[in-house]
Amino acid sequence: MRISEHPYADLLRIEMMPNIWCSGCRIGRVKNAFIEAIEHLGHDHDRCTVVSGIGCSSRIAGYLRLDGIHATHGRAIPTALGVKLANPKLKVSVMGGDGDILGIGGNHFLALGRHGYDINVFCLNNFGYSMTGFQHGPTTPLGARTITTSAGNPYVPINPVAVAMAAGHTFVARSTSSHPYHLIDCMISAMKNAGPSFVEVLIPCMLFERRNKIKSLEALFVEKAKIKETMSVEDINQDDFTKEISLGVFRNAPKREKHRLSLVKAAKKGTGKQYHVDFQSMTSGIKHMQIRMEGTGGQGIVQGGKTLINAAMNMDPKLNSTLTKKYGPEMKGGSCVADVLLSSQAIDYPFVEVPDLLLMMSDLVTKERGGEVIINKNGTIVADESMVDFSLLDNFPETVKVFKMPATRIARENFRVVVANNVLMGFVCKKTSVIDKNCFKAAILKSAPPGTEEMNLAAFDAGYEFGKT
Ligand code: SF4
Repeated sequence: MRISEHPYADLLRIEMMPNIWCSGCRIGRVKNAFIEAIEHLGHDHDRCTVVSGIGCSSRIAGYLRLDGIHATHGRAIPTALGVKLANPKLKVSVMGGDGDILGIGGNHFLALGRHGYDINVFCLNNFGYSMTGFQHGPTTPLGARTITTSAGNPYVPINPVAVAMAAGHTFVARSTSSHPYHLIDCMISAMKNAGPSFVEVLIPCMLFERRNKIKSLEALFVEKAKIKETMSVEDINQDDFTKEISLGVFRNAPKREKHRLSLVKAAKKGTGKQYHVDFQSMTSGIKHMQIRMEGTGGQGIVQGGKTLINAAMNMDPKLNSTLTKKYGPEMKGGSCVADVLLSSQAIDYPFVEVPDLLLMMSDLVTKERGGEVIINKNGTIVADESMVDFSLLDNFPETVKVFKMPATRIARENFRVVVANNVLMGFVCKKTSVIDKNCFKAAILKSAPPGTEEMNLAAFDAGYEFGKT
């Protein structure tokens, strides 16, 4: 009952209490500062999302009654980026520790600064991986004892603030859990900044204190910290927190303009021919259809899968559809499969088991399978005759329709080999009548790289014409 009367009760998941943090840990204060910042800004709770990785600090996301994702270790920033891209109106914040954000997820942290998305990263720096017993991490001070550096850390720690500045974060600040009002101010400013914001929050960890026989890191923070209005280069480069800790805002800049190297010529806008294909949506009558396109990396197999699914959705937007793809690590030249499911019902298993329509751009996948061609007994196979060994297609019952056509040869002789997949699509469109021609062409236009639209559409038409013979 008393918890429900807590002033932050609206934003806390009371059912998750008590929290897991050690007695004396200050992560809770950072969580409270975050709540204060949100309330101060008057943000709609339904538009605030918190993403965290793994670790003591990352547990904050689980205790907040806000939409959140507890992602995997080091992957909070890319997960947050996905949330932001899916719904740019959300206020997206990342909560995590130094190990998660600067160690395992270090490259994501660099990339966020470079990419410039409006995401707030609050990094609780306790100088090591605490949840797993305190191993050394990227910010562990030189000489500090951890369970992986029992004789003292021999590695030079990184400076989170300096790295954030170099990476291009537009707001960079440092505070501590022992300066709650300052921390709230930093969080508010970070959330107001329209670019990637980074706030380093120093927090004491009981494990670090115990192992290094430090009586109170909090006392050290309070004694050595100086809140400054303006920051100098010395403040950024500070590397001995036992002497001085500069707290404040190191950078609060507008979102960066993106400058292009003068040697990179901008594409001329509006000069290219605009292509458009009108199509009409209609009921497809498809109940459940499994389509597999297989071939060799570089033949546009995945692209073909996308064309099929977009064409089907152009025709019948009420269909459910999935696309899954598989290719070997070698990519170009390796086997490649794109599976498309179309169904009037919800799809609970997105893989093709027995195709109703099998499009073979090469026989590599079949040969890797030992020569077995899997097809529904009433299915249809379309094979590129210059790329598939026909002996593989000899022994089917008469109910299986097998078409052999020269997609690659037509593409090579009339266009370029890379559009052989669309020659095949034109042929499939004509021979199967499953998907409307204009729905197909609109799907091809959608994915054709600028400047290649005409060639891709012509390749489709060539395949379609060949299908009339
Ligand atoms: S291990 Fe350290 S950081 Fe984790 S809850 Fe305990 S004091 Fe806090």
